[in-house]
Amino acid sequence: MLVERDRVARGATGHNAGQLTTYFERPLSDIADEFGWRLAADAQRHIDEAHDLLDTMVSETGARVPVERFTGYLGMFNRQQLEVHLRCMLVRKRADLPAQTCVVSEEAEFLGELPADFSGLYSVVPQAQVRELLEVDGDSYRAVLSEPAGCSNSSALCRQVLGYLQSKYADRFVYADRTNVERLIVGEDRVVVHAGPHRVTAGHVVLCTNGFVDHVVEDIAGSPIQLAADQQITGRIAYMAAFAEDAPRPPAAISYIRNTTIGGDTPYVYVTRRTYDRSDDTVTLTCMGGPEYPFDEPLYHRDALFPGGLLQALDDEARPFAQPARPPGLPYDFHWHGLMGYNDGGIRVVGAHPRHQRLLYNLGCNGVGFLPSIYGGHRLAQLLAGDHLAASVFDPR
Ligand SMILES: Cc1cc2nc3c(=O)[nH]c(=O)nc-3n(C[C@H](O)[C@H](O)[C@H](O)COP(=O)(O)OP(=O)(O)OC[C@H]3O[C@@H](n4cnc5c(N)ncnc54)[C@H](O)[C@@H]3O)c2cc1C
Repeated sequence: MLVERDRVARGATGHNAGQLTTYFERPLSDIADEFGWRLAADAQRHIDEAHDLLDTMVSETGARVPVERFTGYLGMFNRQQLEVHLRCMLVRKRADLPAQTCVVSEEAEFLGELPADFSGLYSVVPQAQVRELLEVDGDSYRAVLSEPAGCSNSSALCRQVLGYLQSKYADRFVYADRTNVERLIVGEDRVVVHAGPHRVTAGHVVLCTNGFVDHVVEDIAGSPIQLAADQQITGRIAYMAAFAEDAPRPPAAISYIRNTTIGGDTPYVYVTRRTYDRSDDTVTLTCMGGPEYPFDEPLYHRDALFPGGLLQALDDEARPFAQPARPPGLPYDFHWHGLMGYNDGGIRVVGAHPRHQRLLYNLGCNGVGFLPSIYGGHRLAQLLAGDHLAASVFDPR
């Protein structure tokens, strides 16, 4: 049974940019320092494989949503940023994961200072190539990381997959929308779900609530059931704007680091460009995002106001990356916000609670969740089918 407080895909799934990307917002080398390189690399491999899971999902359900695939780029401008990513590439190399490509401008001021350990991980190219890959005019960016990426419409995908499940498995799949779960009581042999006047008794419950935290989860003695401190979820609201262009442009996913030090406060800008079918024509839609703010209220309303100052900030700071030829101050076709789930560990939580095996989680996107949530769903299906899976960085603690 799928219980949804709103309508299908009205959470982050209906408010994202649609980038199919598999990076962790925390450097992979950092994850390797905490969990060891094997577990870090396994996690990366599993998320990378979610590209295939998505394709399986689309083909098995007959979903009609377009999935576009291409190379995604990340722009870096200083030595520290580049070295962090080269260290991540070393983890990938050690584990024999598919290589990413990294190019560094021959004009980069720090080129001669890069440690020898990193040689062979990048190639030196003319600055013009950096500009071309990142679609920028200026010379502030000096290096580019490339990896397979794509984009699609996760909201349309969910609606189409849900329709398929409802017709194919009418005998064993039930969907209840506009049904808010207020409380879960997790016992030894069952979980009782309280949703308004309804009670659902289940063998297992999966929390796939992303950044929404306004429900109570407790054991039969009434004690709260929690995750480890660094896995506990807090919400962040992310803001985006998008514009349509009649001229066809190739799909793209490009991120531009803007912090001098990775992990600093200036949000990176991310641009997602895709084909967009309207009722009477097909255009190019470019979405641009970056600003995110902690959200501490108990309840998030997707219709809450979008502050005008933020739209202005996106127009000032992100538009020059998204489409340098677009003049400032033009109206946007769309602007919106959505709720993401973050934790201090920066890693999605997927699996059963260590002391309450009937309670499972697939939540906490930490910025990137389209493909990771699909991988999480697959891992939970394996666990519920009784498979014994190796330990993972995603395991709830
Ligand atoms: C602005 C923005 C841009 C993003 N861009 C990207 C991107 O380009 N690429 C990418 O990979 N990821 C992106 N993400 C993240 C991505 O959208 C999500 O991680 C992904 O859609 C998976 O979402 P989910 O299913 O985990 O959570 P959600 O889609 O948020 O689903 C959680 C659901 O749980 C329901 N729910 C919560 N509490 C209750 C309750 N008590 N009772 C009943 N129902 C409840 C909610 O209504 C919601 O429908 C972005 C997110 C945002 C907000």
